[in-house]
Amino acid sequence: MCGYHRRHASTREGPSRACAPYCYVVPVRTAILTVDDDPGVSRAVARDLRRRYGDLHRIIRAESGEQAMETLREMTLRGELVAIIVADYRMPGMNGIEFLEHAMDLYPSARRVLLTAYADTGAAIDAINIVDLDHYLLKPWDPPEEKLYPVIDALLEAWSADDQRPSADIAIVGHRWSARTSEVREFLARNQVPYRSYQVDEPEGARLLAAAGSDGRTLPIVVTTTGEALIAPSDAELAASVGLATTPSKDFYDLIIIGGGPAGLGAAVYGASEGLRTVLVERMATGGQAGQSSRIENYLGFPDGVSGAQLADRARRQASRFGAELVTTRDAVGLEVNGSARTVRFADGATLDAHTVILATGVAYRQLRAPGLDEFTGRGVYYGSALTEASSCAEQDIYIVGGANSAGQAAVYLARSARSVTILVRAESLTQSMSYYLIQQLAEIPNITVRTSTEITAAEGEGHLESVTLRHRVSEETETVKASHVFIFIGAAPRTEWLDGVIARDQAGFVLAGPDLAVGGAAPKGWPLDRAPYHLETNVPGVFVAGDVRSESGKRVASAVGEGSMAVMLVHRYLEKT
Ligand SMILES: Cc1cc2nc3c(=O)[nH]c(=O)nc-3n(C[C@H](O)[C@H](O)[C@H](O)COP(=O)(O)OP(=O)(O)OC[C@H]3O[C@@H](n4cnc5c(N)ncnc54)[C@H](O)[C@@H]3O)c2cc1C
Repeated sequence: MCGYHRRHASTREGPSRACAPYCYVVPVRTAILTVDDDPGVSRAVARDLRRRYGDLHRIIRAESGEQAMETLREMTLRGELVAIIVADYRMPGMNGIEFLEHAMDLYPSARRVLLTAYADTGAAIDAINIVDLDHYLLKPWDPPEEKLYPVIDALLEAWSADDQRPSADIAIVGHRWSARTSEVREFLARNQVPYRSYQVDEPEGARLLAAAGSDGRTLPIVVTTTGEALIAPSDAELAASVGLATTPSKDFYDLIIIGGGPAGLGAAVYGASEGLRTVLVERMATGGQAGQSSRIENYLGFPDGVSGAQLADRARRQASRFGAELVTTRDAVGLEVNGSARTVRFADGATLDAHTVILATGVAYRQLRAPGLDEFTGRGVYYGSALTEASSCAEQDIYIVGGANSAGQAAVYLARSARSVTILVRAESLTQSMSYYLIQQLAEIPNITVRTSTEITAAEGEGHLESVTLRHRVSEETETVKASHVFIFIGAAPRTEWLDGVIARDQAGFVLAGPDLAVGGAAPKGWPLDRAPYHLETNVPGVFVAGDVRSESGKRVASAVGEGSMAVMLVHRYLEKT
């Protein structure tokens, strides 16, 4: 395989005609763009280029600098490559040198050629300094074999010597300390959508902003794989643009599962595989809390551990393969009983009916209360988004608040990029709250420190977090330390207020089910059936609960998955008897 094609081998498939029989990979069809206001000359250049380079390159022709710039902007957003730009010098409006100067902002590494008449060679020589011209070609260029092709061959070779591999990923252009930029990254990461992230002040970020025609005041800009530039998109817009379903396809299902964590995904796999018309609705991204875990070490069947993202991706694919519908960015806000139907209402007012419902809404991180922390959420203070923010922690001194396994896992993960990681724990030691294997792991990592009996009492900064004040709970001594990032893992609470008046819950808001509903052995108040509620059934017949949101549940991936599958078994039993 030739050097050029080896460099581009991973980007496209199929046999190359140019290098056959040695090369079986077609390189990216990079473009050669020509612009000339004289249609006859424009066609002639394009024809000659196409004759020799048309197999491997797209030859694109424009008849004005403005038109060519528009084309280049669209190509930039689509992530397409331009190897060479050939511009005529004398054009009305924008002349060739001005055009090449603008084109450099979008395609700085494209090779630049100016087409000139003999009388304009002075201008062409000046252009060598202004736009770092690679070559000027005198018109006419006949015969092309002698005057055009050797020049273009050499420029193509020089261009391909640099690694120009494009990325098919979505691009996000944002600000380091923009909370919405951080949320967009988190949303895409948790939905397993690959992306590239650029700061507005770095060259590639500025290039994409220019191509999107944005002044950078409203961020982030998300450039989709089809080249569409979305300005500060909502989660629903993002989901739609990356092909995630946001609307159920039917009006009525056998089973609606609310929540796409391990419990919900487990239920979706079993429900759909056992022939139930099943839809799973998820507020943000399937995977739930487990999707945020850098390494789950105690899930059966993965002796070397598995990342939460991988587990979630496998589960999602498995559920889809069995025919479960997975709908994201839908927040369930109400549940009603309408005869034998159970109706779920969403935040946008839409409703969905089914014979049965499984509540699998898990828990969400508790907010840490200290002056300043709310202001910096997403700008240095993060709840559970340790994975997506890791790259911005490089060489920083960072803090993690919390003493449970989730905090420990985040510390191990972040210690790879951060200069130092300090875990702040209110308790006197980690032994009560963290698994033994993790405590051992932390002790072996030199840039991790654990500060016990310590809490954050204030956060300060200008526009983003810059320092936090720490207080020792025994000595009451305080200390203000520089901190760019604080990750908070201080336990979680169920968010079940939306079930008020319908579903019975314990004092902390966890959903009661089965035997936990019985008061002194009697059926719960208002229970309409002769039988007692099934094991995971709530006080509403046909509405079940699984996973962390259930009162007294195991708060583990394995128990959540197990309850999801068990709830489906009980759904069958309920359907058989109604
Ligand atoms: C960082 C971290 C590391 C962990 N590591 C481990 C580990 O190593 N081993 C282990 O066994 N456990 C671990 N856990 C715990 C484990 O992840 C949870 O026990 C498990 O995810 C619970 O699953 P679930 O489906 O019940 O709930 P969740 O995972 O909380 O999922 C609930 C889902 O429901 C969605 N939802 C909530 N309300 C609504 C609504 N109204 N409408 C629509 N959707 C809604 C949420 O967005 C969420 O996606 C870890 C947890 C964290 C946070």
